[in-house]
Amino acid sequence: MATIELKNLVKKYDDGFPAVNDVSLDIADGEFVILVGPSGCGKSTLLRMIVGLEDITEGDLLIDGKRVNEVAPRDRNLSMVFQNYALYPHLTVYENIAFPMRLSKNKLPDAELDERVRRASTMLGLDDHLERKPGNLSGGQRQRVAMGRAIVREADAFLFDEPLSNLDAKLRGQMRTQIAQLQRQLGTTSVYVTHDQTEAMTLGDRVAVLKKGKLQQVASPRELYEQPVNLFVAGFIGSPSMNFLPAHESGGRLQTPIGELEAPESVIAAARGRDLVLLGIRPEAFEDFEFVDEALIAHGSRLTVTPSHTEWLGNEQYGYIDYEKDPQVSDVLGELARDLDQDDIPPLIVVTLSSASRIRGGTEAQLWVDTRKLHVFDVGTGENLTRDPERGAELTRQAGEDRARELETAAEARD
Ligand code: ATP
Repeated sequence: MATIELKNLVKKYDDGFPAVNDVSLDIADGEFVILVGPSGCGKSTLLRMIVGLEDITEGDLLIDGKRVNEVAPRDRNLSMVFQNYALYPHLTVYENIAFPMRLSKNKLPDAELDERVRRASTMLGLDDHLERKPGNLSGGQRQRVAMGRAIVREADAFLFDEPLSNLDAKLRGQMRTQIAQLQRQLGTTSVYVTHDQTEAMTLGDRVAVLKKGKLQQVASPRELYEQPVNLFVAGFIGSPSMNFLPAHESGGRLQTPIGELEAPESVIAAARGRDLVLLGIRPEAFEDFEFVDEALIAHGSRLTVTPSHTEWLGNEQYGYIDYEKDPQVSDVLGELARDLDQDDIPPLIVVTLSSASRIRGGTEAQLWVDTRKLHVFDVGTGENLTRDPERGAELTRQAGEDRARELETAAEARD
């Protein structure tokens, strides 16, 4: 097991394009770190630099404190799991798993190799398939063979490059759980690349969000969700996405296209003195006023709106509210949409309502919004003006503690 340190890493391809631009990140021993961001943000390049498949243009890469910039991939003792599995079609599952060890300079005695292959195969539920060829396996089984091959090497770290993107949604969910459990069981340092924010949030101890080759924020999933540093992170993390509304402060309240909001002084202060801000409201900060606990009402503000339609999903429902487009924010929202790899951010608010709510499209309704959960963003820089760095750091510290406890329990179970 190992620590991995990235120090001011830069990757410029032949055409001079900085695919990775001054990225620094310390990955602790046993930690599960996710590199996430939209297509082209440089996450695969960064992973390939760690494993040694891509030269480092500038900066230092340290594994267990040793600089490895010039060390060949095979001498870094890292295991990579690829998106396309990279299995050998003519070899059996057993031989595919054993393959890296057969190539290794430090050859294992046959009996020990056999024991390792069988241990990995049992862990991954592949015992019944050891004599089959990859072509006859399902996508999920192939992915597990690829995992087995990584495990059997007992490498210092696992590097995953979008390993689940070829699987259907249901299988992806199952494999995600398996990878999380396996990583915890083995306690092996892991770096995992994905463009899927759900995967990032569910798997990562810490998540590093990248945009155009630059690191935006590295934090626990909860810190990213509750205390994003900027518009990009706020818009990327969370599904359905955070709503962004143009707003300004007047008379100690926020004026928005869907009505006036009372809000805590910290929120009002962030907007005060600015002609315009973007107000960030997550869908679940809203509720049908009828369903809000008496004790909570004072922590929020009431709104009268007419949703265009609602969608009932069983455990909750979504309401959609159109509002008039504000040309003053069309540039900033257009740029955000491009950064997030989306076509557009339409003037539409998504709200989450109790599944028992009887609010329906076309009829005026009373909503409540929890104004403790509002974010205020600078329209020019995208900076989150309401971010509380201490609260954010506390969330990540707590996540670290919880994780350490989990790893300890897993280690006890192993011994
Ligand atoms: P995706 O999710 O689409 O794979 P990514 O975030 O993994 O995207 P990279 O593949 O790391 O992104 O690419 C980052 C940037 O570097 C992109 O703009 C890409 O066009 C560029 N790039 C990648 N490989 C090369 C190459 N061999 N030569 C030149 N430019 C490259």
